[in-house]
Amino acid sequence: MTIKYCPHCNKMGKTRVLSDYEQVPWRGIMVKRRRVIHLIDDEGCGQTWYTVELPFEMLPDEDENDTG
Ligand SMILES: [Zn+2]
Repeated sequence: MTIKYCPHCNKMGKTRVLSDYEQVPWRGIMVKRRRVIHLIDDEGCGQTWYTVELPFEMLPDEDENDTG
């Protein structure tokens, strides 16, 4: 169980990563796509969404001027 950002609640909460995943193409590389569920027992919404695992170096630089 990990703390992740929930796109449904727009807040951080306890989540569980489901065991099944698949490799999907993204910008010329393969990234690992996982389904995550927001746990209801932490007052979560119970909704699921996907996350992808990618190298940090692949992140866009659009926020480089936002040093907050
Ligand atoms: Zn949620």
